[in-house]
Order: sequence, then C-alpha cells, then structure tokens
Amino acid sequence: MFEVIDAEEAKSIVEENFAATCGEEEMPIESALHRVLARATVSPEDMPPFPRATMDGYAVKAEDTFGASDSFPLVLKLKGEVPMGEMPAQTVSRGETVQVATGSVLPEGADAVIMLEYIENLSSEEIMIYRAVAPGDNIIKKGEDYPANSTVLPSGHVLRAQDLGALAGLGITTVKVYRQPVVAVVSTGDEIVDCREKPGPGQIRDINTTVLSSLITTCGGVPVAMGIVPDKKERLKNSLEEAVERADIVLISGGSSVGARDVTVEAIESCENGKIYFHGIAVRPGKPTIMGQAYKKPVFGLSGNPVSAMTGFLLLVKPLIRRMSGMTRYTTCPREVTAVLQRNLPSTTGREDYYRVYLHEEGERYTAKPVLGPPGLINTMVNAHGLLRIPRNTEGLYQGEEVTVEILD
Ligand code: AMP
Ligand code: MG
Repeated sequence: MFEVIDAEEAKSIVEENFAATCGEEEMPIESALHRVLARATVSPEDMPPFPRATMDGYAVKAEDTFGASDSFPLVLKLKGEVPMGEMPAQTVSRGETVQVATGSVLPEGADAVIMLEYIENLSSEEIMIYRAVAPGDNIIKKGEDYPANSTVLPSGHVLRAQDLGALAGLGITTVKVYRQPVVAVVSTGDEIVDCREKPGPGQIRDINTTVLSSLITTCGGVPVAMGIVPDKKERLKNSLEEAVERADIVLISGGSSVGARDVTVEAIESCENGKIYFHGIAVRPGKPTIMGQAYKKPVFGLSGNPVSAMTGFLLLVKPLIRRMSGMTRYTTCPREVTAVLQRNLPSTTGREDYYRVYLHEEGERYTAKPVLGPPGLINTMVNAHGLLRIPRNTEGLYQGEEVTVEILD
C-alpha cells in the first residue's frame, strides 16, 4: 500500500525542491491589487511635498500662543489667508498669523495651527486667541508621511488598496511585481464528465476543476483547466505534457491511490525527468496525495474526493503558489480565528486530522461546531467556515477547548 510520510516532511520536500519565483513584470498600479512587489519601492520625493495644515484655523508661531486662555486671550496680527492649492504669499513672524484651511500649505515661519473654534475675529487685521498650541499641533511636516528616499513597501509585500494609494500619492504609477504562477488542473476519471454536461448512468460531474481553479485564484495563481482525461496512462501522460508546457505547476485530480485505475504515478514517471518524491501523507482527509515532477516542474496528484483534494491543496499547493508568487511570511496575514470547540473530537496519533468546522459568533467569542461526514461529500466543505487541524501527536480535542481555525476563503 502506501508508505505515508508526515505532513511536515511532505511540506519540507516541496519547499526544498521548488522555491523559485516565476520572474517579474511591470504593471500599472490600477492592475496591481493583490499582486506581490518584486522590488522594494522607495519614495522619489517628500510626501507631503510641503508642510500642511490639518485643521481649519490660523497658522502661528506656537511660542506666540503660550499662556493664552479663555481668561487671558492674546491678540495676533492677521496677514490674510492662504488660498487652497497655492503657495502662501505671506510669512508668519512673531506676533503674526495667517488664516489656513485643512490641506493648505503652512506659511513659512509658522509651526502650528490654532483651530477656528479658539479664536475671535476682532477686525480684518486682528484676531484674539483663547488657546495655546505646541509646535507641531494641527500640522503635518514636509516628508512626514514618507521622506524622500525612504522605503515605502518591501519586496514580497502583497499590494492592498492603501499601499497602492501611497504609491499614487508619491507619483509611482507602475510597479515591478512577480509574475503569477500558472497552475494547470487535469481531472481524471472514467466516470467524470464536464459540469456543463448531463451525466449518463454511472457518471458524475467534475467538481474538482472548479474547486481547484478557484483555490488557485484565491492563492494568487492563474488557473488553466486542462479538461477531463480517462484513467489511461498514455492519455494522462499526453495531458500532463501539454500542461507542463503551459503551466508552472500541474495538479492532477483523481487516480492518486494505488488501485488498477490509479495511473497518476505511472504517468508522471513516464515523462522526461519524471520522478515521484512521495506518495501518501499521514493526513485525513488527503492521505492519497502524490508529489512528483515532470520536465522539472512540480506535479501534484490529489485525491478525486473533493474534500481530500482541497485539504491536500491547502496543505501543499497553497504554500508553493505563495512562495512562487514571491510572498514572504511576514507580509501576508494569517487568516485564523480562535474558537471554543463544541464537542469532543477523536483523532488518531500518527497522522494529522482536519475537521471542517462551522463558526458561530456568541457574544465576544466564536464557537466551532464540527461538520461531520466523509470527504466524498462536498457539502461538508460548503457548510464549513474553516478547517481545524489536530496535530499528529494529539489524541483528540475536548469540548470547551480553545482551538485555532484556519478560515476557508
Ligand atoms: P479517485 O481519487 O480517482 O479514487 O476518486 C475518489 C472519489 O472521488 C471517487 O468517488 C471519484 O468518483 C470522485 N472524483 C474523482 N474525480 C472527481 C472530480 N473531478 N469531481 C468530483 N468527484 C470526483
Ligand atoms: Mg478515479
């Protein structure tokens, strides 16, 4: 049968053998959402390029306001107003002030802004102030957001809305990002038909092409569906050869076990540079999982059971896609929640168990209710919010225990 290896060992084997990114490409920031930066971005200039007021009010020298209060107001000489979107015509000297609005340029000589609420207009040339301000109050300094030549984002960073906004603000309108890994999906099985077809007697529709393609997209890869292949070694080999030409990674769903119709191993081995790294991992669901290579590209044989295929994918393929996309550990945020387990869960030592769980928000916390059922039932994934992993050397978990749930997004 199988010579199963530990999940951790399986992960390291993938990591040791396939790590390289897929090259770089340049693109406009409008298209770069969720792409991975291939080069650190450095600010070409100060942002903001001039000191700005962050409140509507009056630009002052802070020292001129010291001691001002409701019972001891002070008078300042008003020198007009800074028009928005223009440079100030005036400077602020001792005892003087210039009116500003949120976002206007702070006139030279001023180091703070008093809010509108704390002044009274005496005439067009004088105001009375009722508050003191400290230097720096209600202003942002030139370059305070990003000084010129500072690192804005490190390479390996996944670009989010706010990151692209910072680049736009700095006038960086194109970025160098890593090319997305292309991942081919081959479905095998004599009983499998395209999901757009009506299955004949004994046939079922292909679920995995859709599931795996969607997971690939979620992880940052580009899926290529290769269609459905019967359980014939030669046919699978042909499809595999076409897949390695088009893709950086190949996934084969179905035929990953050890029966007479399970031809994935042989098909991989028959390719140029064909090789199997492991066949079988100590994980449930997902035990019949193959990792190999063909034409020096990584090839995974996943179980045809949709739930097992998903677990195998999340365990081994997702980290590989992320690595090949150039994502680094510190720039991607884990999608996990802590929840209280609602019932006892058994687990066999010597293998990792993955339970599908339904999360329920109860006040300040989540509870996790296992969605039970065999991995042949896709509804167990549909009805689950996340996966709960029971490590290899744990005999199970008790009701009431706090557990960590990986969110399925
Ligand atoms: P296999 O891994 O080929 O032994 O398949 C395991 C189970 O998953 C069998 O019941 C298959 O009929 C089913 N199966 C295989 N491929 C798919 C697929 N693409 N979509 C849905 N079910 C599948
Ligand atoms: Mg099969």
